[in-house]
Amino acid sequence: MILPQRRSKQMKIENLVVGGGAPVVVEGMLKQDIKKFDTSVEELRNLVREGCELVRVALPTRSTVPFFKKLIAESPVPLMADVHFSWSLAREAIASGAPSVRVNPGNMRRGGEMRRFAKEAQDAKVVVRIGANSGSIAENNERLSADEVVKRLSSRTLDFIKLFEDEGVTTLIVGAKSSSVSETVSANRIIARECEYPIHIGVTATGAGKMALLKSASAISTLLLEGIGDTVRVSLTDTSEEEVRIGRQILQVLGLRRFSPEIISCPTCGRCKVDLQRVVEEAEKRLFPLPGWLKIAIMGCVVNGPGEAREADLGIAYGVKKAVIFAKGKKVKYVSNISALSELIKILNGSNFDGSKG
Ligand code: SF4
Repeated sequence: MILPQRRSKQMKIENLVVGGGAPVVVEGMLKQDIKKFDTSVEELRNLVREGCELVRVALPTRSTVPFFKKLIAESPVPLMADVHFSWSLAREAIASGAPSVRVNPGNMRRGGEMRRFAKEAQDAKVVVRIGANSGSIAENNERLSADEVVKRLSSRTLDFIKLFEDEGVTTLIVGAKSSSVSETVSANRIIARECEYPIHIGVTATGAGKMALLKSASAISTLLLEGIGDTVRVSLTDTSEEEVRIGRQILQVLGLRRFSPEIISCPTCGRCKVDLQRVVEEAEKRLFPLPGWLKIAIMGCVVNGPGEAREADLGIAYGVKKAVIFAKGKKVKYVSNISALSELIKILNGSNFDGSKG
């Protein structure tokens, strides 16, 4: 299937290309207080190991800026300073060497300070992300309807785009987030229609567990399938590493990026001969670190498994004691159930299945 693709301008944050047809970027955010510097460096390294390509760092106060500056020097990927409320703090982030700064149009006002920030951002070639969120657009505790949230998120973002453009800043990434899937999708559809800047997508304050994951996946997938979205960040009440893993998995299941083999497995039924859930968990642990992008099937019975998973490049169908390894629905060999996964990995590592044909 060929997905529609919105045309966006291309931005560069150091060596990272965002938008303009570049692969959708996986973004993450540090959860540590940056003043706990050593643990922040460790978290940053873990994120990069998981495949994070751009790391956002909260700068809540002036006292965090020197630590941010030190972190820039340590980081193998570009960092984005995350600033709310204060233009002077955003300016300090630029002075510290930030290649990109996120500002919030919901809680930062226009005026002289904003213009000074814009001038300095332009001089330093900083990419500015205009990131609106639903938590900061209501005034005086007013309660907004879903329609009002969408309208305000999109109009605040578009107003800020205009303000920055008026100051000559066109190195922008934009986007709006809500904790509601439909609000997030609707607001970003409007923003995407009204400008050509790359769009950062994600859902905010999703919560934890499967519901949070579903919220993020629903909104991000809906937008990406419409061709909207150049960078993604999954937000979860979970570890930052898990956020990056899920972000990558969303891009992979949509067929937008390829990071690791894809495992498909059957839902099981009365014909199933093994503890398939356990087998698949084991397969994920052993297969996901492998490069390439083959579709691997793990099926619960030899009777229907190879046929049901005909689209898989390679698969295992389990019997009572023996399993069959198959390729594109055709039998390759019989092996014992116990050795099946190791045998499959041996074949995967062989020349016929090097992952380059995925
Ligand atoms: S592959 Fe076999 S065990 Fe799995 S759902 Fe199909 S028939 Fe049932």
